Amino acid sequence: MGRNSEKLETRVIHSGELKPRIGGAVNMPIFQSATFEYAGEKTYEDVRYVRLSNTPNHLVLHRKLANLEGGEAAVIASSGMAAITTALLTVLSSGDHLLVQEGLYGGSHSFITEDLGRFGISHDFIDGDRAGTWESKLRPNTRAVYVESMTNPLIQVPDLRAIVDFARRKGLISIVDNTFCTPVNFRPLELGFDLCVHSATKYLNGHSDIAAGAVIGSEKLLQQVKRQLGHLGGMLDPHACFLLHRGLKTLVLRLNHQNRSALEVARFLESHTAVAWVNHPGLESHPQHKRSQSLFSGFGGMLSFEPRGGLEASNAFLEKLELPLIAPSLGGVETLVTLPATTSHAGIPREERLRLGISDSLIRVSIGIEATEDLINDFRQALDLDSVPGGR
Ligand SMILES: *Cc1c(COP(=O)(O)O)cnc(C)c1O
Repeated sequence: MGRNSEKLETRVIHSGELKPRIGGAVNMPIFQSATFEYAGEKTYEDVRYVRLSNTPNHLVLHRKLANLEGGEAAVIASSGMAAITTALLTVLSSGDHLLVQEGLYGGSHSFITEDLGRFGISHDFIDGDRAGTWESKLRPNTRAVYVESMTNPLIQVPDLRAIVDFARRKGLISIVDNTFCTPVNFRPLELGFDLCVHSATKYLNGHSDIAAGAVIGSEKLLQQVKRQLGHLGGMLDPHACFLLHRGLKTLVLRLNHQNRSALEVARFLESHTAVAWVNHPGLESHPQHKRSQSLFSGFGGMLSFEPRGGLEASNAFLEKLELPLIAPSLGGVETLVTLPATTSHAGIPREERLRLGISDSLIRVSIGIEATEDLINDFRQALDLDSVPGGR
C-alpha cells in the first residue's frame, strides 16, 4: 500500500483500506456471507469461502495488520490461541524440537507442554535473559524458537535481539507473541523475527468484546499459515472482523495514553509505603529497564505489584478498589486487575509458580483509558489498609 513512510497514527486509519470505498461507505461494510459466486478461481485457496479467511472483511484487516507490524502478509484468526497453535503447527512437524521461553502465557504453555508431544514434537525451556545458556539446549532437530516480547504477569523482557541473532545463526524459525507490546511499542519483524503472533482479543481490538488473533510475517510463511488455518478452521467471523477493524483504528491513541498512565501509576505504587515491589519495564528499578528502553518506543499498559502484608493485604486491596474491575484478560479500555496465582497461573504447581516469581499475593493490573488521576486516587484509598471496614 506504500504507506510505510507515514506515521502509525495515520496508517492505523488509512492503511489497507479500499479505494474507492465500497458504495461510498466510509466504513468497511460487513460481508456476512459464507460463500461467494465463482469468478474463475483456479486454486482451492482462491475459492472465496469464509473459512479460507478471504472475504473482503478479512482481506482489508490482513493488509492493515501487515502494514502496522511491518510484515509482508498477515492472517487473522478466531482467537489468540487459534493464531498461536496454527503458527506452531505450520512450522513444526513430527520429530522436530522447539525452544520456548520460560514463563509463557498459560494457554501457550499448556499447548506446548500437553499437546505438541502427542504429535512427536518435543520442547525445552530457555531463560530469555541468559543468552549464553541457549546453545546447550539446541538439538540437531531444533526447528524453531518461541518467545514473548513481554511476559505475564511479571512483565519481563527477554533478550529479543539475542534471540533473533541466535535463531539466524542456528537456522531456526523465530516466533514472538507481541500481544503485550503491540506494534505501537515494538515491531518484532523489523528486528528480524520470522513470525509475530497476537491475541487481538487484547490491545489490538481493545474493547474486551471479541476474541481474535493474528499472525504476521513474510508472504512465503504466511501462505503456509493461511493454508494451515484453513485446515484447522480457526478463522474469524466477518462480524468480529468488523469489530476488530473498528477497534484497531484507536490502537495508537489508546496505547499512547496507556503507556503514559501505566508508568505514572507504577511510579505512584513504587513510592507508596504499603507496596513491597512493582514490576513495570518503565521503572528504573525493573531488571530489564535499559533493554526495554532500547527495544521499545513505549513500556505498555501492564504492571504488577505486591502490597506489603501478603495475600490478606492483596485481598483487602482488591475489595476496596472501586474503579477497576476484577477480571481476567487485559488490554481493554477499562482497567482490570487479577490475582494471577488464583486465575491465569492457578494451573501451575505452587512451587514452580513461586520459583518463577509469581507469589500468592501478586496483583496484575491492565491499565485502561480512564483518567490517571482517578486511578491513582482509587489505588491510594485502596492501599490505606488500616481503614478496611471491620478493621485490621
Ligand atoms: C490472552 C493471551 C493469549 C491467548 O489469546 P486468546 O485470544 O485468549 O486466545 C496469548 N498470548 C498472550 C500474551 C495473551 O495475553
